[in-house]
Amino acid sequence: MTTRIRFPDGAEVCALGQGTWEIAEDSSHSADEIRALKMGLDLGLTLIDTAEMYGEGAAESLVGEAISGRRDEVFLVSKVYPHNASRAGVAAACERSLKRLKTDRLDLYLLHWAGPHPIEETIRGFEKLKSDGKILRWGVSNFDLDEMEHVVAAPGGSACACNQVLYNLGQRGPEFDLALWMAARTIPLMAYSPLDRGDLARAGALLPIAEKHGATAAQIALAFLLAQPNAIAIPKASSPAHVEANAKALTIALDAEDRAAIDRAFPAPRRKTRLAMY
Ligand code: NAP
Repeated sequence: MTTRIRFPDGAEVCALGQGTWEIAEDSSHSADEIRALKMGLDLGLTLIDTAEMYGEGAAESLVGEAISGRRDEVFLVSKVYPHNASRAGVAAACERSLKRLKTDRLDLYLLHWAGPHPIEETIRGFEKLKSDGKILRWGVSNFDLDEMEHVVAAPGGSACACNQVLYNLGQRGPEFDLALWMAARTIPLMAYSPLDRGDLARAGALLPIAEKHGATAAQIALAFLLAQPNAIAIPKASSPAHVEANAKALTIALDAEDRAAIDRAFPAPRRKTRLAMY
């Protein structure tokens, strides 16, 4: 079990963070969503992942409320829309995100997925933001191996600090090559939709393992990711009860028998498959 993950610049973060897609969609749930994020911070889940896309800024605003007065505890991640990722566009988008998040800096700023602007230009924008102190590091999201090779070969690209990708028990494709390539370069792989959007919480195949550990299927799905040496998992939980349950996954150590049972139900990839995305 790997509970701390190190970025290439030496910064460390808890391997279990918190996602925020589809929060802030219904204001009657906002109080619970804010309570959930705060409880996550109390439990050490200090990485919060958001994006300008989520609710067109509404999720960032809600995160801003949740972290108010606690900014220094948080490892704050946001993402820029690909269509905003020109050199000047990232600067303007970042400024808007900072305002909504009520902070002066992001710990990590990601390109949400590859888009119309050449990555070289996006990197120039990110590096300028870094030298201005608006972001501490930058990375990408939804980049497969060939795209990562392109990133690190670009001017300034060796500073790429993360790739956030779809990775969970139902989507183990990244294990074939991308995860290995990233681990060799200590570029953390941030696993999004770690519960496969909630489906893995209902996975019958995980129940015997869950029962053995006095846990739930969701906790086993997270424990599997936390056992990977270079992965950060960012489940989204809009209720404090789910956050509390997810934090307990940090204490579950899967043994060889568990791993074999998982491999039978969710086989590891035997060949390259193109990186999937939601
Ligand atoms: P997810 O985290 O795999 O699953 C979220 C679902 O699982 C929600 O319905 C949640 O319910 C439920 N859940 C959470 N904890 C649970 C528990 N302990 N027991 C049972 N159910 C539980 O899905 P996701 O939101 O797609 O992914 C996580 C985060 O990754 C996102 O929020 C976002 O920050 C990021 N993401 C990034 C990209 C990208 O393109 N870069 C794409 C997708 C997601 P409640 O909400 O009711 O608690």
